[in-house]
Amino acid sequence: MTAKLIDGTLLSQTMRADIATRAAQLTAQGKQPGLAVILVGEDPASHVYVRNKIKACGDTGIRSVLEKYDADLSEAALLARIDALNQDPTIHGILVQMPLPKHIDPQKVIAAISTAKDVDGYSVLSAGELMTGLPGFRPCTPWGCMKLIETTGVSLRGKHAVVIGRSNTVGKPMALLLLQANATVTVCHSATPDLAHHTRQADVVVAAVGRRNTLTADMVKPGAIVIDVGMNRDDNGKLCGDVDFAGIKEVAGHITPVPGGVGPMTITMLLANTIESAEKTV
Ligand code: NAP
Repeated sequence: MTAKLIDGTLLSQTMRADIATRAAQLTAQGKQPGLAVILVGEDPASHVYVRNKIKACGDTGIRSVLEKYDADLSEAALLARIDALNQDPTIHGILVQMPLPKHIDPQKVIAAISTAKDVDGYSVLSAGELMTGLPGFRPCTPWGCMKLIETTGVSLRGKHAVVIGRSNTVGKPMALLLLQANATVTVCHSATPDLAHHTRQADVVVAAVGRRNTLTADMVKPGAIVIDVGMNRDDNGKLCGDVDFAGIKEVAGHITPVPGGVGPMTITMLLANTIESAEKTV
């Protein structure tokens, strides 16, 4: 079998075109959607991520406000800035790029963001909304994975989904979203003794580990949907995921590539959450 490719770049383009239309409509009503992005310190990867987010806002007509601070910014000063942005009616989403310098408590900072503007979906309140099935902002990467699965046309109802990884930002919310879509969900992690035993029974596997070749062809049920969240480097420095794409595409029914799968969807879902937030205020 050769798996069908789940094209995250294409889905992203389609979704961003829709977001741009909605942003233009809001702007025409004098309500241009606005995203504030706060970057503290000099972490090079964070600078790249932020640049990409700012560019994506520009491409879709969302106003972005980048606030850059030196690494010695005090926690109190950062909290005061978030408070001001919470009150600012022209800002519909607030994103604080992680990681923060060690002297700043990330939990305190995330908790300070108004739930109505928590477009990253990282706060404890947003997590509680997801957990209890209330409406709210879902974390961008797992939410993007759900959109990718949707494109396969396969209903998740009654399917067995295995999530590999249990981080607060990817694995756990992913499991909750799959559960909400009526899948039967197994969550595996570093203490799971026989990962293959679980993945071989799965109709859907989401790999969010950060280690290449965590999932190989012999661990996949024929016809399964395989979503690869991982972002790693191979021996030649080339970007690769957590799954052995070349092997698994001969077994799976659908598979996301890396790059071009989950990656583009993460920023797209940030834009989608920001637009949704802005539309709620009209
Ligand atoms: P993380 O916080 O490091 O979590 C990794 C998870 O993998 C942990 O729950 C860990 O288990 C589990 N794990 C580690 N080794 C394992 C093994 N041998 N078998 C089974 N589970 C194992 O990472 P993350 O933030 O969730 O990110 C995961 C990957 O996704 C990374 O490569 C990251 O770069 C990528 N990512 C990509 C995007 C994107 O936009 N494409 C967005 C976010 C993340 P324990 O909990 O037991 O330690």
